[in-house]
Amino acid sequence: MKILFTTAYIGKEGYYDWFKFQCPEPFRLTAPSVLHAGLRFINANLPQIEILEFPTWHQYISKLAEGWDVVGFSFYTHETNKIVEMADYARKSGISTLWGGNYGAINPFLDGLFDRVFTGYAEWELADVLGVKIDRLLHPSMIVPMGIRTLPFRVQNMGAIQTLRGCPMKCVFCQTPAFAPKPETVPLESLDEILRHYKSRGIDWIAVADESFGIVQDHMEKFLELVNHYGFYWAVMTKADIALKHLDTWNQTRFMGCGIGMESLHRDYLDSWRKNQTWDSALTLRERLFETNRYFWGYYIIGHEKATYESTLEEIEVMAGLELGVMQVTILTPFTNTPLWDDLDSKYGIFEKDWSKFDTKHLVWNHPHMTADQLHKLRWYASIRHNNPKAFGKFIWRIYNNYASHLKSHAKALKLVSSFPIKANLYRGTR
Ligand code: SF4
Repeated sequence: MKILFTTAYIGKEGYYDWFKFQCPEPFRLTAPSVLHAGLRFINANLPQIEILEFPTWHQYISKLAEGWDVVGFSFYTHETNKIVEMADYARKSGISTLWGGNYGAINPFLDGLFDRVFTGYAEWELADVLGVKIDRLLHPSMIVPMGIRTLPFRVQNMGAIQTLRGCPMKCVFCQTPAFAPKPETVPLESLDEILRHYKSRGIDWIAVADESFGIVQDHMEKFLELVNHYGFYWAVMTKADIALKHLDTWNQTRFMGCGIGMESLHRDYLDSWRKNQTWDSALTLRERLFETNRYFWGYYIIGHEKATYESTLEEIEVMAGLELGVMQVTILTPFTNTPLWDDLDSKYGIFEKDWSKFDTKHLVWNHPHMTADQLHKLRWYASIRHNNPKAFGKFIWRIYNNYASHLKSHAKALKLVSSFPIKANLYRGTR
């Protein structure tokens, strides 16, 4: 059976870049989304499935012309319109079987678009369909090119890692509880292999992209032994209480900092989102990270149903006072298959029919106190207010001082930082 899995195509706007939507121009980092973790995992474990990551429309139709028994689409909700277009084209081109996967595909409003929908990380289910066996889940290579806007070369290659996939928490705005509620660890042998591979590619930093790193303590500790063994600097995205619990262990490694979903400073907002985290724990973590020159990268949601324009402006000021340097600001968005969808739809109504607006940068439901235009302006203002050059400079300075303290020398830290662009341009691939 000839199978092709693809992502949504990219249009004139080019690759999605997280920094583009959060940081003021012109001075900012770049990290274009050129690779797709879900498809990389599938391809590493089931190489008979060919993958196409973020093609142009022309590349997509050229690939379809090669003839396939099955075409699968992996996507997020905001990419749905493009996927509907791609699926339509595939049907008209004579592809008899279409599959869907990832968070976007579980949308009940897409009923009938695909012949089969895969919920959760699908390697095992796909192996059954193909009649093959996976002995051990392998970890794919995922090298993320980092840059600085306007510089024509990479400034650093970052190795992305997932040590565990899925999350048992129940935040009401998140689709993970419907998609992958049972965390599954990636075998340590596979993590060892990928770390060794990254080392051979000249990579110094790894970014752990788990949904809930640290919840399986034994596995986390053994993984960090490997990270230490290979001498990587590393960073992670996790919850504040998990980070606080493990901080002493992490500080014994080349730990650089973490991304934390702070979401709000209001206890009642956090409780209503079942975040199971307090503002105080986020503040304590910030202090402890800053004491040792580790960074804190924040994620923050505006547009709670109780929030007003004025209260949001006040919250933005408090958040900006933390001087984190990098803060992602999003507008509260109800996604399908979440409790938040049911709650906001029943109370206020979700008016938006255009799936591309479900990107956390638009208001898609009838907010009782704010207009879409107000929230749009607030989000952009908050991004500029938080991600300003001064705070970003402190963020970078912290990272540099962290290198210096690990290497016990500022000169060695400078030498290390200078080596990043050289190594990144000696290897310009993503595998
Ligand atoms: S902790 Fe993160 S991944 Fe888990 S449910 Fe909450 S938002 Fe989703």
